[in-house]
Amino acid sequence: MSISAELAETVAATTGFMPVDEGEALHAAALSAGAGTWLEIGTYCGKSTLLLGDAARSVGASLVTVDHHHGSEENQPGWEWHDTALVDPRSGRLDTLPHFRPVLDSLADVCSAVVGGTEVVAKWWSSPVQLLFLDGNHTEETAQHDYRAFARHVVPGGLLLVHDVFPDLVEGGQAPWHVVQAALADGFVQRSVHGSLRVLERS
Ligand code: SAH
Ligand code: MG
Repeated sequence: MSISAELAETVAATTGFMPVDEGEALHAAALSAGAGTWLEIGTYCGKSTLLLGDAARSVGASLVTVDHHHGSEENQPGWEWHDTALVDPRSGRLDTLPHFRPVLDSLADVCSAVVGGTEVVAKWWSSPVQLLFLDGNHTEETAQHDYRAFARHVVPGGLLLVHDVFPDLVEGGQAPWHVVQAALADGFVQRSVHGSLRVLERS
């Protein structure tokens, strides 16, 4: 099942960092995951959440998406990926949570949002995960933390999807690539590559 025209339109209208072709690949891969709990790290305004949520609804899975909603380093003022439209005038801080609200409402039957840092969520997370999508902080330390903290919950046959994987330093940061290398060393098997999206499976 591919993406409906209506979903494609909603995704296109949602702020975020998911190229159309990689979003389609994300959706297709998710449709092959088992029902159960799916976990997204890195919500931002919900662009990828819309795709995962639609697939979760088809499969009968429950999606959880985690973000503190204050953006990554590269989203802060003065950095390359800063969007002034996402600054909360009251706090002066970047805040994607109000922008994510309509997405969450559209997925209310299938998606729960956890608003918090991954370091805090990792302390209590214990559910087995059928699909893990890593698209949060891209510093080496936090990317590795998120992998170690959450990939251990991926069940045999479960999927690990990693975004922004650039083996060539010229194309982008290396942390997600290092996460993929760690996953391969841990026995995950790579199923496919779609641009910067890697689909791996726990054997
Ligand atoms: N998946 C999104 C893009 C995510 S951008 C899309 O499709 O558009 C990365 C997100 O990770 C940002 O929203 C940022 O707030 C979040 N993030 C960064 N570090 C984090 C941390 N330590 N804990 C929780 N979220 C974090
Ligand atoms: Mg990304």
